[in-house]
Amino acid sequence: MRLVLLGAPGSGKGTQAEVLKAELGVPHISTGDLLRAAVKAGSPLGLKAKAVMEAGQLVSDDIVLAMLEERLAKPDAAAGFILDGYPRNVAQCEALEALLERIGQPLEIALKLDVPSELIVERIAGRAAAQGRKDDTPETVRERLRVYAEQTEPVAGHFAQIGKLKIVDGVGELAEVSRRIIAALPAQCRNARVNA
Ligand code: AMP
Repeated sequence: MRLVLLGAPGSGKGTQAEVLKAELGVPHISTGDLLRAAVKAGSPLGLKAKAVMEAGQLVSDDIVLAMLEERLAKPDAAAGFILDGYPRNVAQCEALEALLERIGQPLEIALKLDVPSELIVERIAGRAAAQGRKDDTPETVRERLRVYAEQTEPVAGHFAQIGKLKIVDGVGELAEVSRRIIAALPAQCRNARVNA
């Protein structure tokens, strides 16, 4: 199963990806998590990324692509992956397609979690209280939502154009949204977990 999860910050991508990884038997690869780990480790890459992330902007395409390529080369990704937080702009879409073609792992589906923006703001406020993420402050959240609308929304259009986009209603109980996602997956992917 090779899946990209799309959706605004706070749409529930990360939470759903954690549920799906168990269901589908493939790793959840979040570029946000990879970057936060690099920041925490204080690596040169992390030092570069920190200020950009705290401002709610996008880390440079080259850095994120290199990190993703390294992660996809790990053995657990040979069976597939759930990609969360990548691609974030159209250039990353093209880079992803080229990378996946090179490693012989073409994408099967991009699934977008649809959540109205009023609910997004409410959810991020809840997450800020629970997790204390540095980029969940009101100003940074506003900037992340602006960057999402400007740069990431067109990514869904790109996947729609190549016939790989599914949109799932992301409002509701966690388990209900998971059920909707699984129902939207191509049949061979749903069967993969049964046959595994
Ligand atoms: P996320 O956890 O996906 O919300 O990502 C948190 C932050 O990490 C974003 O606001 C960006 O600063 C950075 N980030 C994550 N993924 C990417 C990406 N694909 N391209 C550029 N920056 C990213």
